[in-house]
Amino acid sequence: MVARHDQTTDPELLAGLLQARRGTAFFARKLNELSDADLDGGSLLPGWTRRHVAAHIGYNARAIARLIEWAATGVETPMYASAAARDHEIDFGATLSPIALRNLFDHSAVHLNVEWRDLPADAWHHTVKTAQGRLVPASETVWMRTREVWMHAVDLDNGATFADIPAPVLERLLADITGAWHARGSDSGLLVTVAGTDLAFGDTGAQSPTVVSGPLPAVVAWAAGRGSNEVTATGASAAGASGGGSVPAAPKWI
Ligand code: ZN
Repeated sequence: MVARHDQTTDPELLAGLLQARRGTAFFARKLNELSDADLDGGSLLPGWTRRHVAAHIGYNARAIARLIEWAATGVETPMYASAAARDHEIDFGATLSPIALRNLFDHSAVHLNVEWRDLPADAWHHTVKTAQGRLVPASETVWMRTREVWMHAVDLDNGATFADIPAPVLERLLADITGAWHARGSDSGLLVTVAGTDLAFGDTGAQSPTVVSGPLPAVVAWAAGRGSNEVTATGASAAGASGGGSVPAAPKWI
């Protein structure tokens, strides 16, 4: 019997799957709004056209599906053979015809969704390995995909903004990014706050930090290296009077 619904009943996981599916639908919408000629245009990512972004999202779904197959069968199948193989695959995908590129996105998204849907409840705890070599439970793949589809929908640069991304996704993204800074020690003296909330990330113990602040979508966009609209900086490394200093570039994330 083919299951028509998710095998897991974990409410947190089901909520995560919903965010991933919504993000995939959002990416699909933005991709479908682009004409075939538009695909040749630049994305927000240096050196990448929209074709590269679409190819990356397609191959990312396939790579994550391999992790789910690993969790289901116990047979180790990495996301990518190597970082070079991943990059090569994206470069190749970017040369596909528009119809093939769109099919790659559609089919890979459906395939991943089926893998998720049919994964037995207990297999979601099985350990798999990310492309960075991190050992994580299979359930983590839902978040890995979620942040890819939402962020790269913005990178298509045809109207999506970080304000389109649901707040829970933005908050987790900011925690991820600032966590990566912290692991590298690159957040020293840098405090990130979200206007209208008591959310604070980064070097929360600093004596006189540079404080970068703004609405949640703007702060996450800045932290992810996608511009500093609506973001302000005060303190040590922010030049300028009356609290309106220039905003420093965010530390590198990935
Ligand atoms: Zn990506």
